[in-house]
Amino acid sequence: MDTMKKNWFTESCEMWPGSTFSFEVKEVLYHERSQFQDIQVFDTTSLGKVLVLDGIIQCTQKDEFSYQEMISFLPLCCHKNPEKVLIVGGGDGGVARDVAKHPKVKEIVQVEIDAKVIEVSKKYLPFMAVGFESKKLTLHVGDGFEFMKNHSHEFDVIITDSSDPIGPAVSLFQENYFALMKSALKPNGIVCSQAGTFWESMGLVKNTLRFCKNQFPIAAYATTSVPTYPCGQIGFVIGSLDESVKLDQPTTKFSLEEIKSMNLRYYNSDIHKAAFSLPSFVKKEIES
Ligand code: SAM
Repeated sequence: MDTMKKNWFTESCEMWPGSTFSFEVKEVLYHERSQFQDIQVFDTTSLGKVLVLDGIIQCTQKDEFSYQEMISFLPLCCHKNPEKVLIVGGGDGGVARDVAKHPKVKEIVQVEIDAKVIEVSKKYLPFMAVGFESKKLTLHVGDGFEFMKNHSHEFDVIITDSSDPIGPAVSLFQENYFALMKSALKPNGIVCSQAGTFWESMGLVKNTLRFCKNQFPIAAYATTSVPTYPCGQIGFVIGSLDESVKLDQPTTKFSLEEIKSMNLRYYNSDIHKAAFSLPSFVKKEIES
């Protein structure tokens, strides 16, 4: 039975067959194909502005802060002195916006493959693209995998805010990418990569965590809640070269005043710890 109405966008993807998520569209603000992917921006009745790449929701104005804050502050708050940070992907600017808030971060380098995503985000998604205005940021347009080959012992933290492993992002989910990130880190460096949802993509979660564990002495999977991602949940694989780091125990704990002044709406030290607590069936799968 077709219950979908006109003016509704329906996401569907081979990575989560048989179920889908839809939202009502007020206006199509942008729709074009770039050199790398199909790009859509919608104004919607319930989610604010929404960015869609190759038919897959990347971020919505309603819940993007959960993803951006967690992918940024989980690694940053585990590192004793995260002065220099590399962001791979992140063409909407949301991760740069949040990384720039950390008081110890002095320098941010970002490499995004698609200049069109940056341009469109600046025009239609300024609440995230404000990140591109940070004085700490140097922005490059290029492939994150290729960029990594040319950098060694340079970064304290590397955050991979990539789209799902379809199209240009496939290489960012492979074991050799984790090996390249390891070489690009300074001693005691930390990586954090988008790694999918355990509800629909257990294989992806297991593989990405395995690749990370093969390269880093400390590695774990953490999750956050994002209602507009498949099954409302997404996870991150985090790896540390510093063996003394306990990933679920942040070394930097922000006070309530700091959280307020940084305008953090999702991240705090309690949610940091909780993010590493996994359901029994997930623990069983990733330990097998
Ligand atoms: N939060 C989103 C999610 O989890 O779906 C990701 C948002 S961000 C828009 C993803 C970005 O990764 C896109 O702008 C895409 O162009 C970029 N990207 C994909 N593959 C890349 C690569 N190989 N190098 C650099 N950037 C890449």
